[in-house]
Amino acid sequence: MQKQFKLKNIVINIIDTVKKQDFLVYFRKITITEINEKEIVFWVVSSFMKDNLEAKFYNDIFNAAKLEVRDLEKISFVVDQNIDNPSNTDVVDCAKFLNEIAKTKKSKKTGENDEDSHHQEITSTKSVNDRYNLSNFIVWSDNQLAYSACEAVCRNPGKSYNPLYIYGDVWLGKTHLLQWAWNEIIKKFKDKKIVYTTADKFITEYVSAVKKRSIERLRQKYREVDVLIIDDVQFLAKKEQTQNELYNIFNILYESSKQIIISWDRAPKELENLEPRLRSRFEWWITVDIGRPDFETRLAILQEKARNNEFMIPQDVAEFVAANVTENVRELEWVLNQMIAEYELSWNTPTLPRIAEKLKKLSFTTDILGSVKVPQKTTIKSYEDIIRKVGEHFGIEFEWIVGQNRKKEFMIPRQVSMYLLKTKMHYTYERIGNIFSGRNHAAVLYSCNKLEWLLKKDQGLLHDVNVIRDSMWI
Ligand code: ADP
Ligand code: MG
Repeated sequence: MQKQFKLKNIVINIIDTVKKQDFLVYFRKITITEINEKEIVFWVVSSFMKDNLEAKFYNDIFNAAKLEVRDLEKISFVVDQNIDNPSNTDVVDCAKFLNEIAKTKKSKKTGENDEDSHHQEITSTKSVNDRYNLSNFIVWSDNQLAYSACEAVCRNPGKSYNPLYIYGDVWLGKTHLLQWAWNEIIKKFKDKKIVYTTADKFITEYVSAVKKRSIERLRQKYREVDVLIIDDVQFLAKKEQTQNELYNIFNILYESSKQIIISWDRAPKELENLEPRLRSRFEWWITVDIGRPDFETRLAILQEKARNNEFMIPQDVAEFVAANVTENVRELEWVLNQMIAEYELSWNTPTLPRIAEKLKKLSFTTDILGSVKVPQKTTIKSYEDIIRKVGEHFGIEFEWIVGQNRKKEFMIPRQVSMYLLKTKMHYTYERIGNIFSGRNHAAVLYSCNKLEWLLKKDQGLLHDVNVIRDSMWI
């Protein structure tokens, strides 16, 4: 009872600080599983929720909880689908709860401005740049590091994660992150000189400077920059002179500890058509990759984007789209927009046969109606390959990695292996536990979380994981 009471108070505090829309999307259902004077553990419904709550709302939740638990030092989140079980009464269902609160508020103070109209006003004055902000950026396991790295850079440009190299296939959110970082740094560091450009624009700028013989001025401009963000660097391929110019700029900025962030559609070692010395430079940059969202994440992305548009997709339709539109976020957005447009014209809610027809028209190959594709193919043959690769990298035998010995030299390779099986192979925690000497679900979950946490702190380890990953998936 006490727990339930505290939970409700905490949730009310949260509602006071986060946007209503975010509250509905990200909190959805929440409960407390453990509470003492120093720590609260929350249960949430999926790892998607957990990642987002940790990444975006940790401070809001912590502060809200601290108002109720004075000596609080730590909060954490654990995924448990049991929270969806209707017999579980200790759960706050956010939508219902918000309604309850609205009702009591209304009956208390009729006549006053209610909060909804206030919110409306705020959202309608959004600036154009808000298209790329963090509250609409969805975090999943394979973009989390890129997200955290950008966040760290925004907090302290030039200090950590420098120079930062973000790579990933098209339409997976590189520009979204870079533009957000750009806006954020401008807002926070008003006295810094920040340049965001694309490699394409840089080439044009360079060519025109050469023509006008004003190359010195261009050099001067870039030398004075505090933060240089260059998107889509792949356009530099075969442009040797521009590459050289950029090489010199990078060197100057790096030597004076200025922040550099670039995005590329491939990993440093794959950069053909690039000056060897520039390529070898990139190899020691801090690299983070963005990978494709898996089925569960695609489903969540669709539902969240639909909700942001105040559009309802039936569950079976959402699952069908998530199963068949697998490549990237932009295509998910595109299909969703088509559904919304159709709905606005005809007021027909999407049904499975209609959406199957639509996807066919948009030239997606779909499986038989309603069936769900097996999530994500990878080129890796088996989990054994992964564990052996990790073992080779750290110089440790397979058996030690999957075994029980808790010495530190075995723990890291073990956690790295589990993490790769989870994020790259999409194994369940149970299956991983089974491979690693029959550990239980919670132990594997703990190890994966621990590693994720370490990766954010330890750039050396991040480098190790990148090397292993690149040696297998490219
Ligand atoms: P890239 O630069 O990698 O090609 P973009 O940043 O242009 O990809 O992303 C393509 C579209 O998908 C954009 O509309 C972007 O807002 C959206 N998008 C990508 N990643 C995410 C994400 N994690 N959360 C929400 N929207 C995303
Ligand atoms: Mg882009």
